[in-house]
Amino acid sequence: MKKIPEEFKLIEDIRRRFPPGKGLCLGIGDDAAVLRPVKGSLEVLSADLLLEGVHFEESWTSPRDLGWKSLAVNLSDLAAMGAVPGYALLSLALKRGRAEVFLREFLNGFKRCARRYGVQLVGGDLCRSASGTVIAVSVLGRVKPGKLRRRDAARAGQLLAVIGNPGESACGLELLRGKAKGHSRLKAAHLKPLPQLAAGRMLAAERGVGALIDVSDGLSSSAHQLARAAAVGFELAEDRLLVSAALRRGAAVLRREPLSFALHGGEDYGLMFTVDAGTEQALAKKLWRKLRLRLCVLGQVVGGGRGVKLLRRDGSKLELEWGGYAHFGG
Ligand code: ADP
Ligand code: MG
Repeated sequence: MKKIPEEFKLIEDIRRRFPPGKGLCLGIGDDAAVLRPVKGSLEVLSADLLLEGVHFEESWTSPRDLGWKSLAVNLSDLAAMGAVPGYALLSLALKRGRAEVFLREFLNGFKRCARRYGVQLVGGDLCRSASGTVIAVSVLGRVKPGKLRRRDAARAGQLLAVIGNPGESACGLELLRGKAKGHSRLKAAHLKPLPQLAAGRMLAAERGVGALIDVSDGLSSSAHQLARAAAVGFELAEDRLLVSAALRRGAAVLRREPLSFALHGGEDYGLMFTVDAGTEQALAKKLWRKLRLRLCVLGQVVGGGRGVKLLRRDGSKLELEWGGYAHFGG
């Protein structure tokens, strides 16, 4: 499809707002970006899509928050590899009309997130969408080989732990959809998630930390993915799950169980990991002292079985279904 002159102007705006920085040989403006590799590092790549009507609605999110979130969710994947972010590509399909205003605000949010986490925007693509807005971001980061953290490293005898506030974002989303007043913490959790890059790096530097994943599709889903990747099982305890006062209040307004948000609600972008039993307290102290993050031990890794079990408060044990947000079926 041919580009219309207005699109060249928009790209020129982007180029002006994202001047090339360190490590970059060639940024926005040529056919492709050119980077200088960092010696001794592995390169880590990830991509995410945000679709209007699937991931967001214009009625409850602003272009600026979308700009932040579209980069933040990608950075969360780098955090979950223990990687340091470097570069991003941004591809947008914009609807007719107001494209310029949307883009300006979107880039404000994107840039804020990029600055905060040290990311350079080095290229992308831009075109018209015949239907809704489409946002595709890719990121490139790096990690020292010894610090890479994969999903398949859970071992029997380890504990399963999480940082972040699982359930708050999903509850915030329901409140946004219902046009509820207040609940700013829950709404912010959904609209402007914080990628846990510093925590990811800290966890990756710990010898006792095994598998690492971000909690993008809900706690139960992340646990199932870790269990499957390493062919282990997990036993989680209901009374270990942290349910914040904010989540309790939000769930009450919606007449929902806070626990179902905490277990199955997605888009929190916390981190889930396994850690050698006996090392978790020192790690919890460090996470709190350096990052003011609370480590929550959910339960333990068990060998053999593959499922995820939940010990209820009443002593019963149930199979925890793979109940996070699923795009295909479920
Ligand atoms: P091509 O037709 O070869 O795809 P474009 O005109 O789309 O080239 O892009 C020209 C330059 O602008 C490239 O460097 C490209 O990476 C950059 N660019 C295009 N769209 C974006 C965008 N949304 N964000 C950042 N850079 C972009
Ligand atoms: Mg292009």
